[in-house]
Amino acid sequence: MTIHSPGTVSIDNEYDKHDIRLIKPSYAASWASCRRRAWLNMHRTSDFEVDAFTRLLFDAGLEHEQRILKQLQDKYDVHHADSFEHTTALMQQGVAVIYQAHLMNPEAGLVGFPDFLIRHESGQYQSADAKLTQNENKRALKIQLGLYRRLLENDLPVMVFLGGNRTAVIGSETDALVDAFLADMRQLREQLVQPDVRYSHSKCRICPYFEHCRPHFVNQEDISLLHGVHGRSAEHLATAGIRTISQLAAQDPGTLPDVPHLSGIKRKQRAVVQAQAYLQNQVFQLNNIELPTGNWIHFDIEDNPLTLTRERHVYLWGMLVPPHTHHDFDYVWTDHEGADYDGWLAFLEKIEQYRITFSPVILAHYSNHEKAVIKHYAQRYNMTEHASVQWLLGKTQGNDHGPMFDLQKAVQDNLVLPLQGYGLKDICKHPELVNFQWENTASGSQWSIVQFNRFLAETDPAEKQRLKSELLNYNRDDVTATHRLELWLRDRFMQGRV
Ligand code: SF4
Repeated sequence: MTIHSPGTVSIDNEYDKHDIRLIKPSYAASWASCRRRAWLNMHRTSDFEVDAFTRLLFDAGLEHEQRILKQLQDKYDVHHADSFEHTTALMQQGVAVIYQAHLMNPEAGLVGFPDFLIRHESGQYQSADAKLTQNENKRALKIQLGLYRRLLENDLPVMVFLGGNRTAVIGSETDALVDAFLADMRQLREQLVQPDVRYSHSKCRICPYFEHCRPHFVNQEDISLLHGVHGRSAEHLATAGIRTISQLAAQDPGTLPDVPHLSGIKRKQRAVVQAQAYLQNQVFQLNNIELPTGNWIHFDIEDNPLTLTRERHVYLWGMLVPPHTHHDFDYVWTDHEGADYDGWLAFLEKIEQYRITFSPVILAHYSNHEKAVIKHYAQRYNMTEHASVQWLLGKTQGNDHGPMFDLQKAVQDNLVLPLQGYGLKDICKHPELVNFQWENTASGSQWSIVQFNRFLAETDPAEKQRLKSELLNYNRDDVTATHRLELWLRDRFMQGRV
């Protein structure tokens, strides 16, 4: 996918004039995610709008690239290339650094645009890219950088300027992966029909081709549509003659073959019941649900991953305290990552107040994220022995069962729902399940990151306040949703209902 940002030069147009079917390193991200996505990108049969979150990431990547450019300009004579011919001429001149290089290898069927070419002491050029990630071991990144080596046709490793001020080098260790990518992309390039693939909830729901692909999966009753059933399991079940959700729903779990990710009887039982739940649009209860007794405080955080240090900044620690009305929303907010430590301390102070006011406290959250963040913050600020942290993480009780309670685990362990995803919004928004609707229908985790970054960039105080209010309302709806989920579970799935 190519994004043309205002104020940036489009280099795709020039590339398109040469041959739109040359393989680009930027295809690696699609390919590593889904072969069909790579095919659709290459054959351009579907158009889509770039969403605000993708644009935010793109702009953040561009800012990072500009920071690296500035650092290189402080040390070297940097030349900005504006064409393939210009890049070749600059290389022949032997300039120190070429910015936005244009490279093409028609024999290999490759074209690419590394951020930088840096002249090595041997006189050869070494490509270098600026990437916001802190992890150089991502499959797509390794392919992309390996392809730059192929385009330069020398043995020098590629450099990558990562987020968090670290530089990594990648050399011939990625050759086998690059070969596999190129072989498959050449096959996809010649293929006239889109490849068959399986549904993946985590990948498909955020894919721009979702609306293009989903009807096909639904019409085929593809087993991979079921929550908890991996695409590889679906492949192997198909080989055994079980190709549709209806066929799976009619199986005796005890006679299902062992296939990858689906080998123990419990998993098989769950897969069959999940197929039945999907077809009948019904909830199946596997066990009685037990919820801890105490004064429930519902807890949810909002964080921003796009910080200068690449350490996530929790800008909002939100809580809904008893008696859980609209007015019982309580929170800690910090305006920017510079106040991160103050926000953490203020959150711990609030926890201490709650221990006095609401004892015994149950701090309910949805998914393991909140607990993981508390552990991470305790390590970040060297506070793992702090009394409040110890209490939150269950250390003072002599076991791991502190006041924190994960409602998602309670749901997943005991219920099978007619859903493809067991996220908080999947369950709460469903009209036949919890049926709680967020005030802002467009809100979500990616939306909140975009909003907070708008808040950071905004200079008008009134608009800044409006953005903050929207984020507070969103977080208040999140904690209200977990409260409504708690009530729904108590009402429908507990013995001795409350
Ligand atoms: S929606 Fe899913 S199957 Fe379709 S291209 Fe995207 S990731 Fe691949």
